[in-house]
Amino acid sequence: SGSVSTADLVAWIRAFRDAVQQHKDELTRLDSEIGDADHGSNMARGLDAVVAKLEPVPDTPADLFKTVGMTLVSSVGGASGPLYGTLFLRMGPALAAGGEVDADALGTALRAGVDGVVARGKAELGDKTMIDALSPALDAWDTAAGDGPAAAARAAAEAAARGRDATEPLVARKGRASYLGERSAGHLDPGASSATLLLEALRDTLAADE
Ligand code: ADP
Ligand code: MG
Ligand code: MG
Repeated sequence: SGSVSTADLVAWIRAFRDAVQQHKDELTRLDSEIGDADHGSNMARGLDAVVAKLEPVPDTPADLFKTVGMTLVSSVGGASGPLYGTLFLRMGPALAAGGEVDADALGTALRAGVDGVVARGKAELGDKTMIDALSPALDAWDTAAGDGPAAAARAAAEAAARGRDATEPLVARKGRASYLGERSAGHLDPGASSATLLLEALRDTLAADE
């Protein structure tokens, strides 16, 4: 269908938590190569705290995103908590109150979220961060939005994975990995990997709805 319900979005967040739990060791291993080996545990802890706040189920998508964002900001100490927190905190206000969440509306909200991450973290495309997955995902979303939310999420997840893979040869210019300079090349960015899980979770959730 063309419209995304609050229940769909709650299912998305739960699926993201499950994916992060499943990939927790892998995310931590990636962070051990170019960071401080805590990305998997940071994200898992934050998303467990988020899921604990989803009962009772939030009334609206804006309420949901506010709860997710505030919980991530307050329960994750690393760089990723405030950045993912900002992503969700910016999404709610970008949705028209009481309006239907269609592919365009969700794309607009995601873009507001990613713009917030850029404003906060100052990373540009190619700096070897989560932005390298998120930014191409949004462009792909916009291109496919006319075919509905499930198709947009499919395109976005594919673009995110390509963006993640493209971080491998890059030298990090933001975050802890940047302290390694040239030695950060040859490893995937952990945050680009978790951001790909976020879009893949949305793809899988909306596909189940088709
Ligand atoms: P920390 O680096 O504080 O230990 P995490 O390990 O949880 O935090 O998260 C690291 C990830 O955060 C990186 O892989 C990168 O994708 C992302 N990141 C770090 N700094 C920035 C930034 N300024 N802008 C965007 N993303 C960033
Ligand atoms: Mg870390
Ligand atoms: Mg850390």
